[in-house]
Amino acid sequence: MLTEAQTLFRPSAEKRRILLVEDEPINQEILRAYLEDSYEILVAPSGAEALELLHAQYETLSLILLDLNLPDIHGLELLRRIKEDSRSSRLSVIVMTADSEAEVDSLTLGAIDFIPKPYPQQKVVLARIMRTIELSEDRDTLSHTERDHLTGLYNRDFFYRYVIQLDAHHKDLPTDAVVLDVNHFHTINERYGKRYGDELLRRLAGWMLSRLEREGGIACRSKADTFLVYWPHREDYDALLEELSEYLDADMGSKGHVRLRMGVYADADKSLDAERRFDRAKLAADTVKESASNAVGRYDRSLHEAELLSEQLIESFPDAIRRREFQVYYQPKFNVRPDSPVLHSAEALVRWKHPALGMVSPGVFIPLFEKSGLIQTLDQYVWAEAAAQIRRWKESFGVTLPVSVNVSRVDLFDPLLKEKLRGIVEDNGLGFGELLLEITESAYAEDSRQLVEAVRQLRALGFRIEMDDFGSGYSSLSMLSALPIDILKLDIRFIRSAFAEHRDTRLLDTVVRLAGAYALPVVAEGVETAEQVAALRAAGCRFVQGYYFSRPLPAGEFERFIEERIRQEASFQND
Ligand code: C2E
Ligand code: CA
Ligand code: CA
Repeated sequence: MLTEAQTLFRPSAEKRRILLVEDEPINQEILRAYLEDSYEILVAPSGAEALELLHAQYETLSLILLDLNLPDIHGLELLRRIKEDSRSSRLSVIVMTADSEAEVDSLTLGAIDFIPKPYPQQKVVLARIMRTIELSEDRDTLSHTERDHLTGLYNRDFFYRYVIQLDAHHKDLPTDAVVLDVNHFHTINERYGKRYGDELLRRLAGWMLSRLEREGGIACRSKADTFLVYWPHREDYDALLEELSEYLDADMGSKGHVRLRMGVYADADKSLDAERRFDRAKLAADTVKESASNAVGRYDRSLHEAELLSEQLIESFPDAIRRREFQVYYQPKFNVRPDSPVLHSAEALVRWKHPALGMVSPGVFIPLFEKSGLIQTLDQYVWAEAAAQIRRWKESFGVTLPVSVNVSRVDLFDPLLKEKLRGIVEDNGLGFGELLLEITESAYAEDSRQLVEAVRQLRALGFRIEMDDFGSGYSSLSMLSALPIDILKLDIRFIRSAFAEHRDTRLLDTVVRLAGAYALPVVAEGVETAEQVAALRAAGCRFVQGYYFSRPLPAGEFERFIEERIRQEASFQND
């Protein structure tokens, strides 16, 4: 059973709130009696109290009724302050005064109407107030459209404003912040057309709206295929998602199944910003991103701890860079064509020796830094370290060992990227062929044009590009010929599934052969066993990286591989 509070949990059901700034009890009483049935009245008997209330509640107010005779400051001064503060300036103010002279001043300062003192009849006062509120709401609606054109749901700005209003009226009602997402919506769009995609979103929104109609709550479309819902706490999200999914599938016809993903931050903490509450719901939704069926992720204790850790890592980043807590490790890549494999190059992988947390894995902080924009600073640090290392090895061993560094998607949007990399290479007296760039496959998949152009320019400069993580699910083999790459690096998962319980290397063989047809050398990563090396070599894969040869090592330890290669070469010459 739904409670009354739940069925009423929508903005249109609430009484509008009016702030009455008035010090005389008798006037307070009269206006209260006039207005109480239609409006909720907050009373401030002084200018100071009015400002305080405004500060805390400005988003929930619909109107201010202002007496000009206040005990502390003049009403006109208060009016000026209200109109000066960008948070309260949109609020309509009706001035109440017996002094007709003051009317002009009030108008100039931005008051919208007057109510003379002594007060006129109740219905006159009510009519003025109602008209003023209507006008100001129309004005709000005109200046930003409240609703999303496609779906008829609120747009994001209004949605957040209403969340705050609802909170003000239902302080103690437990509420949930929910994010709803269509998995792989872009694929649906690509495959069946934008019109079909739009129709799907409209149907989804229609279903949502009818639920909200019955059960209370509000929703918005925050991005293409992401919806936010704010409503009274409930438990039945799994069932809800199934129901919605069946509803959508019924209309898909032969087009198959729409997969949905939901993130729930249940009984959300109302002391947090609304945005922050929905960020948590989004975090929860991301935990079920890879799920093959409809899935609900919940914001729980472990996510909360992860969130705290993220904050801690982001906060300690500037110090970490300054104190050189990041260290670059090197993992060898071997050429497995010759009978005994030969060291070919290395990949630079960053490590963080955090003073409080110990060794932190890049798997934890890289995605975090990619989101928060810190990755560029870190990557440049790693590139410079790696380049300096190549130079030192050149000096001490007299050989060049090319090192590949990871370049994030975010880096590719940096207009200065080319110049930064050029600077690093030139400062260390290296050739462009000595510092290889690994760019993850997924970078090519999204809005690729700009990124592909950035990569093209790097290549034109002389850099060689490895496509990292190939096979992790974004690009197709047919794209390979069109992309600016020099080396194909098979994703670790690719190798894993080929050598899983039922060994099946057919796909692997095909990919390596195809890469050969495009004259692309292949690196396999995550290679752990001799069996894997043998199979890869048989398939025609030239380079292998993985624990089979070595884990990533600090530069000093890595040197044994260089020394070994020098010995190999010497004995080859002696033969
Ligand atoms: P990645 O570029 O795909 O790097 C390969 C990861 O697989 C490394 O993890 C490596 O230690 C691990 N690995 C290598 N061989 C094996 C193996 O045989 N078995 C298994 N199970 N794992 C193996 P790591 O060092 O933890 O790095 C994780 C990811 O973090 C990297 O994946 C890369 O995406 C990112 N990353 C690391 N360093 C940097 C960096 O300096 N900049 C950027 N942007 N990303 C980096
Ligand atoms: Ca890599
Ligand atoms: Ca990789």
